[in-house]
Amino acid sequence: MPAIESTRAATRWTTRIVPVFLTAAVAYATYVVVARICCEYIYSSFPLHLSQSHGSRHGSHHGSRRTRATNPVLLLTVEYLLRSLNENGTATAILVLYFVFLLLMIGTYARTFYNANFNPGVVPLGPRAAYRLRAKAEKQVRRSYGADDIEGRAYEAGPDNDPDSPGLESFYSRDAFVCETDGRPKWCSECCNWKHDRVHHSREIGRCVYRMDHYCPWAGGMIGENSFKFFVQFTTYASLFCAVVLGANGYALRRQAEHGASPDPFFLAATVIAAFFGLFAFLMTVTSARYIHQNMTNVDILSFRQKVYQLAVRVPRGTRSDRFGVVVYPLTKLESGSGGRKGGAKSLKRNDLPSEEQADALPASSRDDLAKRTFAILETGPGENPWDLGPWRNWQSVMGTNPVDWVLPIRHSPCADHESLETLYGMDRILDQLRNRYGLPAGPPSDESTVMEMRNLRSQ
Ligand SMILES: [Zn+2]
Repeated sequence: MPAIESTRAATRWTTRIVPVFLTAAVAYATYVVVARICCEYIYSSFPLHLSQSHGSRHGSHHGSRRTRATNPVLLLTVEYLLRSLNENGTATAILVLYFVFLLLMIGTYARTFYNANFNPGVVPLGPRAAYRLRAKAEKQVRRSYGADDIEGRAYEAGPDNDPDSPGLESFYSRDAFVCETDGRPKWCSECCNWKHDRVHHSREIGRCVYRMDHYCPWAGGMIGENSFKFFVQFTTYASLFCAVVLGANGYALRRQAEHGASPDPFFLAATVIAAFFGLFAFLMTVTSARYIHQNMTNVDILSFRQKVYQLAVRVPRGTRSDRFGVVVYPLTKLESGSGGRKGGAKSLKRNDLPSEEQADALPASSRDDLAKRTFAILETGPGENPWDLGPWRNWQSVMGTNPVDWVLPIRHSPCADHESLETLYGMDRILDQLRNRYGLPAGPPSDESTVMEMRNLRSQ
């Protein structure tokens, strides 16, 4: 499987060099902590320290020998054993913690790196995308994209105006989805495809990504729903690993200071490196924890307080209101009326779509009628996050329901399943609120009620 890499050469090289750099830093930390602190410094030097401390306590080597002669042998042996247990205990504790966090850090990094590169959760390209990409390559213009991943450019290739546009049914077969003001899903003009909920186009890799978070050269690629959990685990273990390195070096430096020795430059350098990476990883962990708590991503958080979502929410047939527009799926071709219906780059306005009466008036088999689904186009309030399910369910949707999944980088986030027939990502909280706010019946219309409505409609 080919890696999905950044479209920019500089980022591609950064992504390749960073793992080498990180490996060197970890190798150095291992040398300092394991070889210099635990083995060389603590294990091998404690009898020396014991005799030194005795010597200093009694003022002179001569005094020490006299004390040793007068002390009972047993007392000295007990003191020696206790001290050795204490010193060895510290070294063993440091080594155990060091290797536990090192292993977890390497495991989560490998999992993040693999998914960020080979399985970032990209949306397949639409049928027109290949043609568009070829045309773009021929022109060779506008290579200098912005540094961020956020969409902001005007549509270059407008949405597919074919009412039977491939992919649309995966939206209206569910009970709710994010839409434009005309009730159709958002459209990616680069990938020439419809954008599912929480899908964003990354200019960094030139593809649409599910639940995109950010492009991370440190973790080797795109952090989206397939890698975000492993990324958070990695930053957590990296923080803890750096804390152990800092603790071990702090302990060794303090002992050196106690014995009047000048600080070892190896310990000082390791302290600086661990503090740098540790702070970086810790801040990333805190930010990610906040995103998990609120069910947000780096993309969602942008201008979050002003952001308003349009949601197409399935309602019973015949629902009318002057408070919201309504769209009926499958979309229907209209022969007369608006001129811009036949393909092209013109985007549809709300008035171009058939009203429910028009859709009903069109000749169609009863099976088609039954397949018709009506959606109200509802608006969230500014700053309302449609994906917020409450802290506990937000946590479970990313980290999993089992505590083993929280700590080990094995299974993907449950939110990446996309198995729910209701919505792509959980939205029941906001849907309940919106249905209540707009005076709609609670919950989506059941298939039985749709059949009943159809019978009533036909008997009229
Ligand atoms: Zn795209």
